Amino acid sequence: MISEKMMEFVKNSSAIRAMFEEGKRLADQFGAENVYDFSLGNPSVLPPDEVKEALLKVIREEDPNLVHGYMNNSGYEDVRARVADCINHRFGTAFQKDNIIMTVGAAGGLNVILKTLLNPGDEVIVFAPFFGEYRNYVGNYEGNLVVISPDTTDFQPNLAEFEQKITKKTKAVIINTPNNPTGVVYSEQTIMDLADILNRKQEKLGTSIYLISDEPYRELVYDGVEVPYLTKYYRNTIVGYSWSKSLSLPGERIGYLVIPKVTDAFESIISAANVATRILGFVNAPSLIQRAVIHCLDAKVDIEAYNRNRELLYSSLVSYGYECVKPQGAFYLFIKSLEEDDKAFSQAAKKHNILIVPGSSFGCPGYLRIAYCVDYKMIERALPGFKKLAEEYRKDR
Ligand code: PLP
Repeated sequence: MISEKMMEFVKNSSAIRAMFEEGKRLADQFGAENVYDFSLGNPSVLPPDEVKEALLKVIREEDPNLVHGYMNNSGYEDVRARVADCINHRFGTAFQKDNIIMTVGAAGGLNVILKTLLNPGDEVIVFAPFFGEYRNYVGNYEGNLVVISPDTTDFQPNLAEFEQKITKKTKAVIINTPNNPTGVVYSEQTIMDLADILNRKQEKLGTSIYLISDEPYRELVYDGVEVPYLTKYYRNTIVGYSWSKSLSLPGERIGYLVIPKVTDAFESIISAANVATRILGFVNAPSLIQRAVIHCLDAKVDIEAYNRNRELLYSSLVSYGYECVKPQGAFYLFIKSLEEDDKAFSQAAKKHNILIVPGSSFGCPGYLRIAYCVDYKMIERALPGFKKLAEEYRKDR
C-alpha cells in the first residue's frame, strides 16, 4: 500500500493526467491532426543550434572523467562562475560562484530551497493564479500553502490581501513572472510595492521572509517588456532559474538558484542547500548539460515563433468574444470561462477536440489556460472550433 501522503498527491494530480489520457483517446478516435492539445507547456520551438554544438564540443574536447563524473553538490565551480558573470553582466549585480547552486531544473531548485527553509507548519504565500505544482512542492516539506486571491482586472498580485495574510509563520513567498498561467509580467511598481510590504512586515514581526522568484520564463517576453531582476529590490530574494523554456531543454533538467550574500543566514542557507541537493537524491545537476550551457549563455530560442502564435490566438479569440489579458510573456493565454464552471467549459471545449486546462488547477476558477507553445498550423486548425464554442454559448443566452 502506498503512503497516505502519496495518496493525497496522486488524487490531486489526477485532473491533468485525465486530460493527457483524454488527448490520447481523442487522437485515436479522430486522428492526431484533428485534436488540438493546448494543455502542456512543452516548448514547440527547437533548441538553438548553439546547444547541439556545445554538447558536441564538450564531449569531443573535455576530459570524460570531468564531463561524466561526480562533482561538488552545487555544481562545477567554473560553470557557477560563468553563470554569475552572465547575471552580473546583464543585470548589474555582483554575484560570485558561491552565490550559485546548479539545479535539476526550476522544479529541482524550488524543492532544494523549500527543503532548506521550511519547518513543518511554516507558511508559504503564493499569488493566484499560480503553477499548481507549488502546492506539492510545499507539501513535500509539510509547509502550508497560503493562497492570495487573484486580481482578475490585470492579474497583477493582490497586494492588499497579501499584506493582511503575512504572519509570524510566513517563511517564504513564491512569485513567478512572466507568469504561468496568465503570461502577465509583474510591473516594476508592483515589485517595489511588494518589497516595501515585505520589509515592513519583517521589521514588525522580527522574522526573515524569503522571496523566491521562480523564473523559467524570464527570457520569453514580447514587445520589449522588461522583467525586473528581483534581488535588486528586496534583500532576502532567492532566484530560481531554468533553461527548460529559454533554451527549449525541459527534458535535460538544468537550472540554478541564486542566493545573494546579503540574504539573512546566507552561509547556513548555502551549506544546507548543498546538503538538500544531495539528500533529495539529485546529488548534483546533470553534468554534461551543465558543461554545455555555459557555451549557450547568450543563445536564444526563436521567440518570434511564440509571438506569432500569441498574436494569432489573442486577436482571433477576442474577435470571437472571449475575454483575456494580452500576455506579455511566457507562452500561455488565460481566458475567462464562458460559464461559471471552468471544468464544465473545458468539457465543452473537448467536444470540439480542444484541450485546455481549467483555471481551478492554478487556484483561479472561472478561467482556463491555453498553452500556445504549439505548431502555428494547429492553432489555425483549432480556431473554427473556438469560434463555434463561443457561438454555442451566445445561443444559450
Ligand atoms: N515553475 C513554473 C512556473 C513552470 O511553469 C514550470 C514548468 O512548466 C516549472 C517551474 C518547472 O520548470 P522545470 O522544467 O525547469 O523544472
